[in-house]
Amino acid sequence: MSENTHNVIFFDIGGTLGSPRISPFPYRLEGLDVYPYVLDILRQLRERNSRIGIISNIGDDKPENVTRVLEKCQIYDLFDSDLIIYGAKNSSEIFQFTARQAGHSDTPNQCLFVGEDSHEQSYAIQAGWRVVPHPCLVWDVLNGSHLRYIRITVPSDRSEQGWQQVIKSLPVVPLYVTGDKGNQVYAIATSQAAMRLDDLGFAVDRLGSEDDPLTTEVYLVTAHLDSTAASDRPYDAKNDPAPGADDDASGVAAVLGLAEVIKELNSLNPSKRTIRFVPFNAEEHGLVGSQAYARTQAAIAAPIVGVYQMDMIGYNIEAPRSFEVHVGYAKCDNVQQRSLVLAQRLERLVSVLSPRLEHPQIYTQPDPAEGRSDHASFHQRGYAACITSEDFFVGPDLTSPEAEPNVNYHRKEDNPVLSLWEKPLPESLSELYFWVFGYKFQFLLEKKSSKLD
Ligand SMILES: [Zn+2]
Repeated sequence: MSENTHNVIFFDIGGTLGSPRISPFPYRLEGLDVYPYVLDILRQLRERNSRIGIISNIGDDKPENVTRVLEKCQIYDLFDSDLIIYGAKNSSEIFQFTARQAGHSDTPNQCLFVGEDSHEQSYAIQAGWRVVPHPCLVWDVLNGSHLRYIRITVPSDRSEQGWQQVIKSLPVVPLYVTGDKGNQVYAIATSQAAMRLDDLGFAVDRLGSEDDPLTTEVYLVTAHLDSTAASDRPYDAKNDPAPGADDDASGVAAVLGLAEVIKELNSLNPSKRTIRFVPFNAEEHGLVGSQAYARTQAAIAAPIVGVYQMDMIGYNIEAPRSFEVHVGYAKCDNVQQRSLVLAQRLERLVSVLSPRLEHPQIYTQPDPAEGRSDHASFHQRGYAACITSEDFFVGPDLTSPEAEPNVNYHRKEDNPVLSLWEKPLPESLSELYFWVFGYKFQFLLEKKSSKLD
């Protein structure tokens, strides 16, 4: 095939073109709810003679089945059938292969990958491709626009004037809305769109650096607000005390403390990632709060790349200062693998940043904490998540230090304990998270030696 100079645009399917409906095991694609804006974008690209393809991991599903689903939702014919590539996007190889198919082995930068997954984006970049995280950004990027993470503040005098419609009409992907009056929007936008917003009188802060797709990543730091003393029988939830100092005021305290310090750090040296601090209610009733939250986040395809839940991090009476990180998820190895990366990051950093702590005891499946804290709600939606706790469980290895479960677990005696922990674990976790969230190491060391100490 001869080389050519035209752009070829490859779309991921699930989470980019639409929301997939997957059958029970053995998994296969049953349907695709195409996002409302997708059809217009694909048609526009076709009208301007762009070649468009698909690059998608269909697992053990059959290509004929995926084709049937795409035909059924009337988008199959818009793609160049030679450019529909199925395979795992777990290295740059498939992108190199695809570029060859498109006649761009020597000009891979003519290939554009449209997909929301930042790991896949990074493999595409390694192969010399350009990437965009969302279909609505494609056209501007093809026309030379750059991507930027922005914060839009709506001026108070136009708060009633349908500003949401204005933002919606531009190549802007809102990530979330905040501010006292819901008048601040964090978003990914093209440089063209950011300038247009300037012209329209919005205050636009450009965050991060240009064309850094990783800036679309969102991390959550979480804990649960409720408590129980259900192990004391009889227990009347309406009237009996359940102080929950360890379970989980310890986790909530760490979330709040971290939020405070990160707010200060951010004003000096903005993080490259979005960090949300999310306390959940009704965990002890079956992860009710986090289930609702994870469901709505999945519905808007929120780019959450990691959830760090902290549940019971306050109890450590005797040495050593051992702690656990749980990532086990039997239903999906891929989710567990991505969650394990979160835990391994903590492990790598412990000895550098927090020599006061033992190395974490990392539990993969079989995991006694699987499904038992708010991280599980995210596992179920395909997000990477882990939970950190004191050394509650026996294991994971025969050689692991002896477990030290809180004797007051789910009892009315779960009051504050003075212990070897006190501060080391929450403080150390904070230090680890700073690094995970992309603050510069040197900056942290300087801060640590001055104010944070
Ligand atoms: Zn708990």
